[in-house]
Amino acid sequence: MKKIIFLWSVLFILSACKNAENNTEKTTETPKQEFAIIIHGGAGTILKKNMSAEMETAYKSKLEEAIRVGYDILKNGGSSLDAVTKTINIMEDSPLFNAGKGAVFTNEGTNEHDASIMDGKTLNAGASAGTTTVKNPIDLARAVMDKSPHVMLSGKGADTFAEEQSLQIVDPNYFYTESRFKSLQNIKDKEKTELDHDGKISFYDADIKNSKFGTVGCAALDKKGNLAAGTSTGGMTNKRWGRIGDSPIIGAGTYANNNTCAVSSTGWGEYFIRGMVAYDISALMAYKGLSLKAASKEVIQNKLTKLGGTGGIVAIDKNGNMVAEFNTAGMYRATMNDKGELTIGIYKE
Ligand code: ASP
Repeated sequence: MKKIIFLWSVLFILSACKNAENNTEKTTETPKQEFAIIIHGGAGTILKKNMSAEMETAYKSKLEEAIRVGYDILKNGGSSLDAVTKTINIMEDSPLFNAGKGAVFTNEGTNEHDASIMDGKTLNAGASAGTTTVKNPIDLARAVMDKSPHVMLSGKGADTFAEEQSLQIVDPNYFYTESRFKSLQNIKDKEKTELDHDGKISFYDADIKNSKFGTVGCAALDKKGNLAAGTSTGGMTNKRWGRIGDSPIIGAGTYANNNTCAVSSTGWGEYFIRGMVAYDISALMAYKGLSLKAASKEVIQNKLTKLGGTGGIVAIDKNGNMVAEFNTAGMYRATMNDKGELTIGIYKE
């Protein structure tokens, strides 16, 4: 009898352990979200020691204002494409970010904007590059996707298309901000003396590595299970020769596919193009079955870093799991899930 009681106790303990294990697994799983949204306002050398309390508050409240716009759209059954567009509009209209008002200056002292958007359901996409008069470049990217047979328009033609689509057109002076103009002057002062023998600008790499990339981006999942992502930027200070970065390049700066994830990038664009960063994350999920978290980590912390690139991404998968991955000191970012829980971050945790 004693033996039976002993055996019974052992079995009971073993099964209790098994249950505890299962429960642990369940509680660590992120529950599927009906809808969710994640945004970034650029990555880079963003250090707490260089940030005033006022600036920190200003960034946080603008991030919150922007993400709440998208959240409300999703909550009311709107599409992820609309949430992405309208959320980005708020950041484009703020001088805090390098997109729309607040865009960085080119070498010629102008502002040239790039943007892109992608629909994860249809794999339709739209992009614009090097525009100078469109107030909200993400609206132009959206119009290229919805109202033209093309994926990318550039320069004067893109500005003309925006006018034909009755998008808001502004005088280029609208984009002027003193702080961005000063950044251009600083870089130009250094440039004067520092051309190396290849004709390349020797300080350029170091200067970019220390810069803050203030591009804005958003990725969202709506109640219908559709993913979308978008990105908008002024590019990089002192860019010239019609330089275009990754932000308007589908697969580099923006990618969305309902089967995998939606991604928006920010950082040193040349490396994001060479690494096809946004698409690579999706591809690792599709071909290797990696989770969004594992795929993002592999691409940013391993592949991009080995290449020498700096920056980060925000991304969301079809279950509403959200990831902000970056190899810089900081990245302005925020998330909201279907319960309305908000997180905001600037520095590395
Ligand atoms: N990726 C952008 C570019 O290279 C810059 C940024 O993210 O701020 O144009």
